Amino acid sequence: MAIKIIEDKCTGCKLCLSACPYGAIEMVDKKARILPQCNLCGACVEACKFGAIIMDVKKEEIADKQSYKGVWVFAESRRGEIMPVVYELLGEGRKLADELNSDLSAVLIGSQVDSLSSSLIGYGADKVFVAEDKELESFRDEPFSRILVHLIKEEKPEIFLAGATAIGRSLIPKVAARLRTGLTADCTGLAVNPEKKILLQTRPAFGGNIMATIICPEQRPQMSTVRHKVMKKAEFDKNRKGRIIRKNIDGLDISGETKVLNMVEDLTQKVNLTEANIIVSGGRGLGEAKNFKLIEDLSKVLGGAVGASRSVVDAGWIPYSHQVGQTGKTVCPNIYIACGISGQIQHLAGMQSSKIIVAVNKDPQAPIFKAANYGLVGDLFEIVPLLINKLKEVNC
Ligand code: FAD
Repeated sequence: MAIKIIEDKCTGCKLCLSACPYGAIEMVDKKARILPQCNLCGACVEACKFGAIIMDVKKEEIADKQSYKGVWVFAESRRGEIMPVVYELLGEGRKLADELNSDLSAVLIGSQVDSLSSSLIGYGADKVFVAEDKELESFRDEPFSRILVHLIKEEKPEIFLAGATAIGRSLIPKVAARLRTGLTADCTGLAVNPEKKILLQTRPAFGGNIMATIICPEQRPQMSTVRHKVMKKAEFDKNRKGRIIRKNIDGLDISGETKVLNMVEDLTQKVNLTEANIIVSGGRGLGEAKNFKLIEDLSKVLGGAVGASRSVVDAGWIPYSHQVGQTGKTVCPNIYIACGISGQIQHLAGMQSSKIIVAVNKDPQAPIFKAANYGLVGDLFEIVPLLINKLKEVNC
């Protein structure tokens, strides 16, 4: 695939220059020229009013779109349990499949995972494809990606969704690259274009300053990863019926180049922020590391977990496992209390879907107040101890 300039048609109007977000076009002798940093986004093709810029796609690179049908969800499991993000993807996948008038399927890979199929059906899958082998007990990129590529080539789903978990982030780009299709990571919204029936994948771009909607018009499947807690979990229906389809993977090499010797728990990841119902987070307004004690005390009295902004994680006041935001965790508690956090877009990206947001900040203009349901303007060193004392009284 390449972007080409048809020189005879180029008028030198420079519309493409201002449309290109990557500065990947220059003018030479009043004709546009594409530079190596072009990432083939196609913005210039749309901007050119003279048909002088084309996306040159080789015939063999275009998928036979009509033969691809259905929505698939990668049913990631660990130690015999389905990851919670899968149920959220089934909820979203169900909506997409209904809109496209097609089936929703889950794909389970592992050892002795068959028993997990019924819960996937209960949460909305019409079919569950199962690839089992005792070699697949622990996750390894190579065999898992080989199996997924094999199943996708055989069954041809038009949309493929996976969790943006550590496993999803490692596995899915490999699968997309092998299938020579596009992948949009960390989507925050998915929808179907009602006319063209293609997937609209929305995610923050340019450091979280804009929301971009990305499409994969030519290749199939259209692949997206989504973080935990961004989408709503599907409702469980114990009466739902579906088909379990066991896939034969005998002919595939699933031994792989790597071996899992042992699984060691990462002790720094102990805080389960993504599952907490109440989170109290601290930011640079705390002044110094030792003042995090105040945040811990408030979270303790509420029975919640401790979160943090990136600034304080970068400053070494608290480990990364507590970071909330675009490059940290996405959380959706019932109550999120932000203390001394300004509310930059990258922080909001990780917590703005919380049910109730309370902000404590001495600056009444702080952006966090735009996202907050309740705002307490004042010094956190006065407000937080008052809250702790009052809550202790109520709890007694
Ligand atoms: P500040 O912006 O410095 O805000 C401190 C706030 O405390 C101020 O609003 C101030 O009024 C208030 N304050 C000060 N003293 C008091 C007091 N005594 N009482 C009450 N209020 C007080 N950030 C994240 O949080 N998570 C991310 O995942 C993340 N990812 C990023 C990714 C990229 C690519 C980039 C470029 C940035 C990212 N950031 C992220 C950083 C983000 O842009 C902000 O810099 C960061 O969130 C600011 O942290 P803060 O609110 O703690 O600090």
